[in-house]
Amino acid sequence: MDRPARVQVNPDDIPDDDKPPQTGHTFNIWYLQWAGGDRSSNVTQRSKTRVKISEDSGYTRAKDGKSPLCLFFARGCCYKGKSCQFLHRLPLPTDPAIPSQDCFGRDKTADYKDNMSGVGSFNKVNKTLYAAGLHVNDEIEETLANQFGEFGSIDKIRVLRSKACAFISFKYESEAQFAKEAMDGQTMDGNDTLTVRWANDDPNPNAQQSTKRGGAQEEENSAPPKKKPPKEEPVASEKDVSDEEEIVEEEPTSSRRLLGTARLAALGSIQWSTQHKA
Ligand SMILES: [Zn+2]
Repeated sequence: MDRPARVQVNPDDIPDDDKPPQTGHTFNIWYLQWAGGDRSSNVTQRSKTRVKISEDSGYTRAKDGKSPLCLFFARGCCYKGKSCQFLHRLPLPTDPAIPSQDCFGRDKTADYKDNMSGVGSFNKVNKTLYAAGLHVNDEIEETLANQFGEFGSIDKIRVLRSKACAFISFKYESEAQFAKEAMDGQTMDGNDTLTVRWANDDPNPNAQQSTKRGGAQEEENSAPPKKKPPKEEPVASEKDVSDEEEIVEEEPTSSRRLLGTARLAALGSIQWSTQHKA
């Protein structure tokens, strides 16, 4: 890239106590309050900033193939421009992929968060995002394709009109990782605020193949041997949710449905449900 990365926000506009640390890995795992907190709460706040790839991307002090992408660039709020130590560009299929980390260099965890926010699971290759809070109109598919398409190659979009939500599948997982950060809390037409999470069930057959290992481990840990526990389908499963079906929960999914009983107990289901109801 022959052009310096654009400074996306004026550093003077950020209060000193709200500035992320300057160095190393912590920059990307630190979360700005003014950029919408850690984005894991159940109420999505409208993002104040948004990346525009064609104008914002450019070279930084980061090295291709060695440095992760800049999380704040993805959220449209990196104030460091060309002096940033992270890459200010879209993920590329040729980028070296570390299975335990996302394209921003953040560590994945074994399980998803209850509300499917966050970095995601290293037990599953997930290329599909769940977007809720859509303002549904006749052009919604096209709007989604245009707006999410800024961040990667879209494989498939499915809109559930009556639920005002959609599933957006990308060709590469890193594209989904980037688009999730870029689009969460954004508005597409001014009347909506999107909540973007990981989809529970990736409709891509290849991705499903690669998740099997993780699934098997989970069963070994949580269920009696030999007998397979009846597998409940997750709410946010794209292929199983029809427009007519009633979704009780407002959340895209609950990981309760993914976990065995033993693990559920271990994770403290009571805490989840009381928080959730409150
Ligand atoms: Zn940056």
